[in-house]
Amino acid sequence: MSKIIKAENVSFSYEGDTPEERVEVLKNISFEIEEGSFTAILGRNGSGKSTLAKLLCMINLPDSGRLEVDGIEVTREDVTEDEIYEARRDVGMVFQNPDNQIVATIVEDDVAFGPENLGIPSEEIRKRVDGALEAVGMSEYARHSASRLSGGQKQRVAIAGALAMKRKCIIFDESTAMLDPLGRKEVMKNILRLNKEDGITVLLITHYMNEASLADRVIVIDNGGIIMDGRPSEVFSEVDKMWEAGLDVPQTTELLQRLRDAGLDVPKDIFDPAECAAVIKAALADRGCAI
Ligand code: ADP
Repeated sequence: MSKIIKAENVSFSYEGDTPEERVEVLKNISFEIEEGSFTAILGRNGSGKSTLAKLLCMINLPDSGRLEVDGIEVTREDVTEDEIYEARRDVGMVFQNPDNQIVATIVEDDVAFGPENLGIPSEEIRKRVDGALEAVGMSEYARHSASRLSGGQKQRVAIAGALAMKRKCIIFDESTAMLDPLGRKEVMKNILRLNKEDGITVLLITHYMNEASLADRVIVIDNGGIIMDGRPSEVFSEVDKMWEAGLDVPQTTELLQRLRDAGLDVPKDIFDPAECAAVIKAALADRGCAI
């Protein structure tokens, strides 16, 4: 499997007005992201998740270390503008606030905006826009006014924009945080679909543990570094370490942990509430308590 992102000892600080005000956010961080994978990035507020996302889509460049995006080493001293431009085309970001990322009045014009800026011929743009709107279930809104859409619909239009750009990797920076539960579900369904069916690499920054549990891999950032990295079941089973990092675990994990602490023989790594209820029922039945 090829790696779409390779970061080696990457550090990043924000400049302050004085050297004392300089904020060192990421310290010698190293990791790789496999093409086509789905990774959730967790960490308390201010831990550096958005800063990392901005490095990966090259809104900022690292102070030191090596960063490679889709085979292009963007931190190389002699990297050209064209190479950076090409690497930037591969990685897109969908932000938190649905209202801040719509640039055109009409939905299909908004989705066409990115490819138009790339100078793509108009028939190709038409195809891409139609395909992207269909992929996120928004075809019937193509000629609608973007400002009238719900938050979840606006985020789906933002995703369609990234699809129309043919991004290989999309970073979602708390893109469901401002949505109601229905909108959140719709957007997550679309994120999963574009990862599983279109093979797009997804990085999902989230505070919702049930969303993170859908990923193949969870990376936890704290104090400028990666403190946990593994499958959701591995990471979430370290309940105390998650709590120390200022994070929750999925509610099912917490419930199962408390039952284990109380001496009931239940597994640690079940995220689906119905499955969780079934294993608790079975464990109670083993003890002769039928429910
Ligand atoms: P997270 O996404 O995990 O909440 P951020 O990456 O937004 O964290 O922020 C990490 C740290 O960097 C915080 O201490 C934040 O105050 C600081 N920071 C973020 N953006 C800037 C900026 N533009 N200038 C200076 N400091 C910043």
